[in-house]
Amino acid sequence: PAEVVPQAPEDPLFGLMRAYKADPSPNKVDLGIGAYRDDNAKPWVLPVVKKADEIVRNDPEANHEYLPIAGLASLTSKAAELVFGASSPALAEKRVASVQAISGTGALHLGALFLAKFYKIAGANRTVYLSNPTWANHHQIFTNVGLPIASYPYFDKSTRGLDFEGMKATLRDAPDGSIVVLHACAHNPTGVDPSPEQWAELAQLLKEKRHFPFFDTAYQGFASGDLDRDASSIRLFVEAGFELVVAQSFAKNFGLYGQRAGCFHYVAAPAPSAAETTTRVASQLAILQRSEISNPPIYGAKIASIVLNDPALFAEWQDNLRTMSGRIIDMRKQLRSKLEELGTPGTWNHITDQIGMFSFTGLTEPQVLKLREEYHIYMTKNGRISMAGLNSRNVEYVAKAVDKVVRE
Ligand code: PMP
Repeated sequence: PAEVVPQAPEDPLFGLMRAYKADPSPNKVDLGIGAYRDDNAKPWVLPVVKKADEIVRNDPEANHEYLPIAGLASLTSKAAELVFGASSPALAEKRVASVQAISGTGALHLGALFLAKFYKIAGANRTVYLSNPTWANHHQIFTNVGLPIASYPYFDKSTRGLDFEGMKATLRDAPDGSIVVLHACAHNPTGVDPSPEQWAELAQLLKEKRHFPFFDTAYQGFASGDLDRDASSIRLFVEAGFELVVAQSFAKNFGLYGQRAGCFHYVAAPAPSAAETTTRVASQLAILQRSEISNPPIYGAKIASIVLNDPALFAEWQDNLRTMSGRIIDMRKQLRSKLEELGTPGTWNHITDQIGMFSFTGLTEPQVLKLREEYHIYMTKNGRISMAGLNSRNVEYVAKAVDKVVRE
């Protein structure tokens, strides 16, 4: 096949990271990074993860055997409780099939593969609707398994908030039974989430249209600092009786990025036969998993499982989550107030209105390039900044640089 393989472009985000690394300026700031950084711009190993890691390493029974195909059961059961709530009727009624996956990306892929193979209900459309914009990898993940993709409006450039009317109109016009990918909280890249009332309206609309919700939850506990609140969109849809799926990542909220810990969950709609449906689905997920990865990785899964199963460690984890989300919220406040103090043209309330790790600044591509070339500040071309890249030492420098390029 050598002659027919074309050169593929470099992943834009990883290209940006490379350019940042190669920049010798002492003032350089990395606002492209999709991982949490502490106030010293360093990766943060959560203290609770350090403790759990100690427990894993000191376990005299520990070995490097394979996990079961569906993964570590002590992880997947608690992971399901984390998303759906421990008292969820869906769990009590055995309507949830949970499979450990290769972090959020692997969970999305497993879900996409499952739908590509089985979402063939008479009259239903197989098109996957993605928000515009969305996490860039969504396009490839669904396209790779042969599902057609389309997009629904999401970000309103003029308000730098949600284009709710546009979103609803497109989902209403979409063929019945379409697959709709929804970010459970802390939408990447915009930092804009629907309000609880808007989520309720969306649930009603998707129900009427018989659309199939595919939730992506990569930031639970990271957005508001409250695990339950960050899962409320998914829980609302489960309560509304949807059949749906969830791709869950532990990369950000445990800081387990490279360990690739995550889960895929299938929820059957409430019906007398729902438990039996779920068993059938689980059997098919096991077959797909077997051919893809045989069995998921063990180390990060053990760490997450220890924390989720121990009430004291769980409480400490919540505390660690509040540290991360709190620092990010603080950086939002500081950036906004510095821009307002400088009288930077435009409005900056969206910086604090948006939530989660990212903010869509509204900076244009020429402004983004100028920030990179003249000020050594790196962000994606669409003007997305990672709030975790800001800290008490660089936030003023960034605000002043933004001020300069906006005024030019
Ligand atoms: N979904 C979204 C929206 C994300 O932002 C990310 C992380 N960048 C993921 C899924 C999955 O990441 P991972 O595979 O590292 O869990």
